[in-house]
Amino acid sequence: MIWCEDCGSKLTLFRNKQDDITKHFYVCSHYRQALKRFNQSCTRHSTRRDEIETLVLTKIREVLKYVCENKEEFIKKVNQRSNVESQKSLKAKTSILQKADRRISEIEQITSKLYEDYALAKISEDKFQKFTLKYETEQEGLVSETAALRMEIEEIKTKTANAEHFISLAEEHMNLSELTSEIARLFIEKITISEVVNNPDSNTRKTRKNCSRDVHIFLNGLGEFKVEEMR
Ligand SMILES: [Zn+2]
Repeated sequence: MIWCEDCGSKLTLFRNKQDDITKHFYVCSHYRQALKRFNQSCTRHSTRRDEIETLVLTKIREVLKYVCENKEEFIKKVNQRSNVESQKSLKAKTSILQKADRRISEIEQITSKLYEDYALAKISEDKFQKFTLKYETEQEGLVSETAALRMEIEEIKTKTANAEHFISLAEEHMNLSELTSEIARLFIEKITISEVVNNPDSNTRKTRKNCSRDVHIFLNGLGEFKVEEMR
């Protein structure tokens, strides 16, 4: 669930089993593969596992605390925000779906007409097969596209009213002290990490002190939820 902010690939865990967790680190998988082909199209994005896990745990705890202490405000703000964002996306996806559905019925009409023409010997077998193949391929593509769209639309609809659900999760995990993979899956949708950059006021060599990086943590159903923006 950790992604490279610069190339969009997954960050994969790099570790020796005998090492303790402070020596485990994540690296951009695109960088690792490209390195094998001597083709540097992304950079390392090396991130210590213990540091990112501490950050994620702190973030989850901060959000849970805020949610439990400000339930009404939280419901109001989440509904306001998710309505605007998801209604826009819902509208766009529904319109693409309608177009694809229309095209599927058009293709059904075309292919049955094609078959009729072929049966009445109005077109040659060659042409009949060529066109049939063309329309069948287009139809297969559309059928899988519409299936995916229907799932995405369903997902948006269920996510729209999820503030209450999040509150019950928050209450259940209020005293969270450890980040297990179960907890990570429950709360985290994805994390994006940028490459390390030197801070603007520093022209010395990159060290841990004068460098920084962007880490964005997206929560399930809430997106990049920032407690400070809620106040
Ligand atoms: Zn990358």
